[in-house]
Amino acid sequence: MSAWRDLADRSRLLTHVPLGPLTTYKLGGPARLMVEAEDREDLVAVAAGLEETPIDVLVLGRGSNVLISDRGFDGVVVHLGSGFNWVRWAEGSVAAGSATSLPHLARTAARAGQGNLEFYVGIPGSVGGAVRMNAGCHGSETAEVLEVAEVFDLADGAETRRTPLDLALDYRHSNLGDLEIVTAATFRTLLVDPETAEGTMRDVSRWRKEYQPGGTLNAGSVFRNPKGDAAGRIIDEAGLKGFSVGAVSVSHKHANFIVAEREATAQDVHDLVIAVRDTVQDRSGVELVPEIRFIGEFGIEE
Ligand SMILES: Cc1cc2nc3c(=O)[nH]c(=O)nc-3n(C[C@H](O)[C@H](O)[C@H](O)COP(=O)(O)OP(=O)(O)OC[C@H]3O[C@@H](n4cnc5c(N)ncnc54)[C@H](O)[C@@H]3O)c2cc1C
Repeated sequence: MSAWRDLADRSRLLTHVPLGPLTTYKLGGPARLMVEAEDREDLVAVAAGLEETPIDVLVLGRGSNVLISDRGFDGVVVHLGSGFNWVRWAEGSVAAGSATSLPHLARTAARAGQGNLEFYVGIPGSVGGAVRMNAGCHGSETAEVLEVAEVFDLADGAETRRTPLDLALDYRHSNLGDLEIVTAATFRTLLVDPETAEGTMRDVSRWRKEYQPGGTLNAGSVFRNPKGDAAGRIIDEAGLKGFSVGAVSVSHKHANFIVAEREATAQDVHDLVIAVRDTVQDRSGVELVPEIRFIGEFGIEE
């Protein structure tokens, strides 16, 4: 039986699935196909399906670092479901499934007296997305706390364990390709008093509330920080706070956040990102590089 048919029979394969609700921007069109994977067998079936019918693949975590085109994604989205959402701890380490949300990971670890992951409380992504993006903030990043990530390769079904060195983790970068799925990760932890960890997490959340446009539709920092500088500072200096396209604008609170209204389109976000990049280049000579990933086709060349 076809691997795709097998997935469909088990209600794992869906068609024309709106992707906006699965992202923090809440924008964009549908996926042609989506697999809601619950376990390793589902990933084995996707790998077999891709061998039968090659098609573009997007692994989607919590959608907090992506912008989906209004036309959607003409391929298969692999979305990891509740079977990949778990946290376990031992002495000196915490392991989590890749669909686990980072704030949940940070809080669960802290409650168990396992510190080191408190910074994750402010990053609304998943464990898998954090490994792929080497997510970080407040002076910490995934590369420093990750012991090992479990990776399933949809190209050949191979399963490997990769250290930060193997993953070439660098500023918001890993060497993971589009067919490589992080299924779980183990993090190094330090003993911590749960109340102290709570306090640290409260400080992180307070800082974010003060300096970031919480409660708006966005995908965090849009541009990567140039070495030794901050993209937000450069955009602000170029006079672009409040600059807008359609129902999307550069946040007044933090210029590296591009916030959308409910009636916005993904194309508006894309066009504003390009306009900010080009204006900054003209006014200051700095070439900003987007950190967020654009998925699918947009109206103009990047
Ligand atoms: C309000 C806000 C604040 C943010 N603050 C920060 C911050 O301080 N620091 C920071 O680094 N980021 C920040 N981000 C960005 C984002 O949360 C991180 O990049 C996060 O790690 C992305 O995880 P995700 O699960 O949402 O990934 P997605 O957005 O779903 O995907 C991002 C990339 O990771 C890939 N991916 C996702 N899951 C997997 C997986 N299981 N295996 C392999 N690849 C996968 C996707 O294919 C895509 O290429 C912020 C975002 C928002 C909305």
